[in-house]
Amino acid sequence: MAICEIISVGTEILLGDIVNTDAQFLSVELAKMGISVLHQTTVGDNPDRLRKVLEIAVGRSDIIIASGGLGPTPDDLTKEICCDFFDKECVLHQESLDRMVNYFSSKALEMSENNKKQAMLPFDGVIFPNDNGTAPGCAIEKDGKHILMLPGPPRELKPMFLNYAVPYLKQFSDKVIISHNIRTFGIGESVMAQKVEDLLNSHNPSVAPYAKEGEALLRVTAMADNEDEANRLAKPMIDEIVSRLNEFIYGIDELNIESAVVKKLKEKGLTLVTAESCTGGLIGKRITDVSGSSAVFGCGIISYSNEIKEKILGVNKDDLKTHGAVSEPVARQMALGALKLSGADIAVSVTGIAGPESDGTDKPVGLSYIALAAKDGTVAVKKLLTGKNGPGCRDYNRLVNASNALNLVRLYLDANLE
Ligand code: ATP
Ligand code: MG
Repeated sequence: MAICEIISVGTEILLGDIVNTDAQFLSVELAKMGISVLHQTTVGDNPDRLRKVLEIAVGRSDIIIASGGLGPTPDDLTKEICCDFFDKECVLHQESLDRMVNYFSSKALEMSENNKKQAMLPFDGVIFPNDNGTAPGCAIEKDGKHILMLPGPPRELKPMFLNYAVPYLKQFSDKVIISHNIRTFGIGESVMAQKVEDLLNSHNPSVAPYAKEGEALLRVTAMADNEDEANRLAKPMIDEIVSRLNEFIYGIDELNIESAVVKKLKEKGLTLVTAESCTGGLIGKRITDVSGSSAVFGCGIISYSNEIKEKILGVNKDDLKTHGAVSEPVARQMALGALKLSGADIAVSVTGIAGPESDGTDKPVGLSYIALAAKDGTVAVKKLLTGKNGPGCRDYNRLVNASNALNLVRLYLDANLE
């Protein structure tokens, strides 16, 4: 059986400035996989001492998991020392560099030259993308010994470990691990976590919450000798979560909300069209990203100007004047207009202020109205305030508006519209 050792790198831990919660988390998760952790070592940010610790570790363990010291500053040395120790040359990993560039631009931050160091990765290593920060992790192997490197901040280390290191470590576990993702929309992560609080401490199956851009998901993970047995363990937990979160769930193991919407439209044999203002076609783009969407998607109208809202969709001129383009009546008339024009079963519309500049009125950036009109006479309008303004808000607001529009369609299809 493979023996594992955790090396926590950081002078802050030795000084008692921070508590080594990473080691605790890793030990718990590794135990769940049936991987024995026989040693935990803590070492400061010191190259010679880290090297010595590695020498001892490879002498007694098969898997070494190092945490911390992957950052951009000169005292972050873990990767350099570990790769040097295993004679692994680091080369530029373009995909990681691209991710980093995107990460900084999405947060409207400037990327320093130092950060590029983080995209230098072992040429034959397995790379673990960092979905919550900049430093990618990685795994290297030599003579049957493995070193995995993870970033120190727990909010980066935990998801990276679960999403990328666990699949890598499966080769050392004779158990089968299965996960099911219960995807929700319209409930914040903290409210969701509250509703299932008592389930979050359970073991096998375990339940972990994740949140991303307005969406929240719960991952149920079970371990057993075979897949059927693991699924049998997970099933009652999934049923319990479904009963508690019910109308917020748009799918289990569904890729995203657009694929859930396309699937539901197909099941019901209904067609959808869009009338988009501030999202500029993003809803249509996301629907048509789903293969086979041509069976259910008729057209998308990007009615950006007031003139087109009026001319093509028949939005009332006086309403545009009195209430402004970003208003409930306009959203409603956009959806009704698109429905009439296309003859589809459902139309969804969005009008909003994506920012960062305002629309010249006193309405806040991040305000939008999303409307749905259907052939059966249903009309629903939702007001949304994302609360996001300032640099970088535009992409976020557009994305969240599009997701909310898709969710409105999903709620209608599930017969859950209030
Ligand atoms: P960064 O890019 O933030 O520098 P890093 O991978 O270089 O990340 P460190 O510089 O070692 O990691 O630590 C950064 C921060 O992460 C620490 O200040 C601390 O808040 C947290 N951290 C590091 N190691 C641990 C640990 N073992 N347990 C809990 N938190 C930790
Ligand atoms: Mg650091």
